[in-house]
Amino acid sequence: MILNLQNIYKDYQQDKLVVPVLKDINLQVEEGEYVAIMGPSGSGKTTLLNVIAGQYRPYAGKIYLFGKKLSAYRGNSLYRNLLALLPQNPQTLFLRNSVEEDYLEFCRMIGYDRTEAQQKTEELLWRFELKHLRKRHPYDLSGGEQQKAALGKLLLSNPKVLLLDEPTKGIDACAKHHLAELLKELKKQGITILMVTHDIEFAAEVSDRCGMLFQGQMISMETPERFFQGNSFYTTAA
Ligand code: ADP
Ligand code: MG
Repeated sequence: MILNLQNIYKDYQQDKLVVPVLKDINLQVEEGEYVAIMGPSGSGKTTLLNVIAGQYRPYAGKIYLFGKKLSAYRGNSLYRNLLALLPQNPQTLFLRNSVEEDYLEFCRMIGYDRTEAQQKTEELLWRFELKHLRKRHPYDLSGGEQQKAALGKLLLSNPKVLLLDEPTKGIDACAKHHLAELLKELKKQGITILMVTHDIEFAAEVSDRCGMLFQGQMISMETPERFFQGNSFYTTAA
């Protein structure tokens, strides 16, 4: 098991009267799996991913990544060769004036030397079909291109687990199709993916297991076939 969440509770206020944002979340993800978690706006999807990415601490519960407690990963070690989070607004990932400069800078940040940085940047620009966009300002890309450039940037660090926050938000049908293919390809290469999304069709297409988050609680976790055909989706959606 690559990721194991046990009885996770998270709140933004220290106020005992307030209902927690995440309530007793249990989630186990196997290596190479693609898990999708759906849920309405405000149900805690982004919070859940940020907790797993170590950006917020839960006030109760335990998280293990590769059998090691999340809090035991020190400094940058979590984000090097291990875990990457695609934020709800991927634009926030970009800090430089061109895609290429942004990639090179990120490579330096995670500790590659100059040659490695150049090789890795070339490799990702090629793999993600971004070479013609390398000199463009990241903010001037279309929604779909921006999403792809953001994913490419994250892959510079060779993550084994990819966390995706609403990856289909703001992209057109064609870009969405392309993204689905890309994510399936990453899964084939052995990357474990945990995605939260509104996008039911997309989740059904790409995932091995689907879950539903409702008011901070995980309601069900099944294969897409059972999830959409069986009771769980309709009863929980209702
Ligand atoms: P989702 O991604 O499913 O829309 P979120 O995890 O963003 O849900 O939000 C869950 C709940 O937590 C919401 O009620 C939201 O208002 C609250 N919340 C999210 N982020 C913060 C924050 N930084 N400070 C206080 N409350 C927050
Ligand atoms: Mg969200």
